[in-house]
Amino acid sequence: MQYTVNQRGYYGKFGGAYIPEMLYPNVEELEGNYLKIINSQDFQQDFQQLLRDYVGRPTPLYFAKRLSEKYNTNVYLKREDLNHTGAHKINNTIGQILVAKRLGKTRIIAETGAGQHGVATATVCALMGLQCIVYMGKVDIERQKPNVERMKMLGAEVRPALSGSQTLKDATNEAIRDWINNPIDTHYIIGSVVGPHPYPDMVARFQAVISEEIKQQLLFKVGRDYPDYVLACVGGGSNAAGAFYHFLDNPKVKLIGLEAGGKGVNSGHSAATTILGKTGILHGSKSLLMQTEDGQVVEPYSISAGLDYPGIGPIHAHLFDTQRAEFHPITDEEAMQAGLLCSRLEGIIPAIETAHAVAYLEKLKAKPNEIVVINLSGRGDKDLQTYIKWFEEK
Ligand SMILES: *Cc1c(COP(=O)(O)O)cnc(C)c1O
Repeated sequence: MQYTVNQRGYYGKFGGAYIPEMLYPNVEELEGNYLKIINSQDFQQDFQQLLRDYVGRPTPLYFAKRLSEKYNTNVYLKREDLNHTGAHKINNTIGQILVAKRLGKTRIIAETGAGQHGVATATVCALMGLQCIVYMGKVDIERQKPNVERMKMLGAEVRPALSGSQTLKDATNEAIRDWINNPIDTHYIIGSVVGPHPYPDMVARFQAVISEEIKQQLLFKVGRDYPDYVLACVGGGSNAAGAFYHFLDNPKVKLIGLEAGGKGVNSGHSAATTILGKTGILHGSKSLLMQTEDGQVVEPYSISAGLDYPGIGPIHAHLFDTQRAEFHPITDEEAMQAGLLCSRLEGIIPAIETAHAVAYLEKLKAKPNEIVVINLSGRGDKDLQTYIKWFEEK
């Protein structure tokens, strides 16, 4: 398995655990226990049951007839938008809350940008009766009001991050600070395949249920258990990691990650990490990172809050480095058009994040007999205002 994590927590040159000494006990406790817990029968029983009865899995693999006709190929949509809370993020928070319980933790912290991971975390804390504190940039609190209200309704406390640009990376810094101060009773639920080892691997394992189901569903529908292409948008990279996971060792499957090209990769307003990034360390792991000459993190930009992150998970940096996966930028304009197209042709309004993956159909030029799976990471309800405003201004 040359694309999964090694014993030392690395994917090739990337990964590791670059953390302040005061975090060692927390991270080591998790590192020393996570595989034992995840692989136990008792954990798997609880995890599978909740995924089925609470989240609503398996999610359908839907043959998108009209998109397929338009692009003269076979397009299947993996419907993560149909999960409880509306996106793939709940797969991970269910997994982590079960780990936290088994580690005897009673207090949960999380960071959130758009609020989707915050909502998924607040949801599982309510489910398990655990205290929940979500750090969120003050600017994000103002622009993501419905999700802030959801978290409050679920009983979580939303704490504003007031430093820096008051967005996701500042919220993450606050969460790390909290964890350092509360090492005994607190588990930090990270929302993507980022952070120090073992988080990227743990989150990828929880999201891997996506590709596990795609395999079974394709076998049933078309008689072979792999597609020619898997397309997924990449913020930190958790939905992509989950959609790629069980195909990593099958070279017949082309893996394609779509990043936020924003207003254009050379405009100074994007989050196209593989093109613009250099090796650096952010939030505890070595990966590709958008940074200035002297190593300052560059403020990322995307119309979709979920892709607005200056780095990518170390697994994706490695997939890029080894050319096992391709990564391409999709601009705001391309994504918004694809969101409209998917709505009008399939009756499915995708999250703007997800629309970046759909947009790549324009460029892919797949053959009529080929099979393209798009991971439909989330639904667009949260984005309706943004969509409507965008098209009204055109
Ligand atoms: C958060 C989010 C993303 C981006 O996160 P990844 O870790 O890259 O998957 C993508 N799509 C949706 C719907 C999201 O909510």
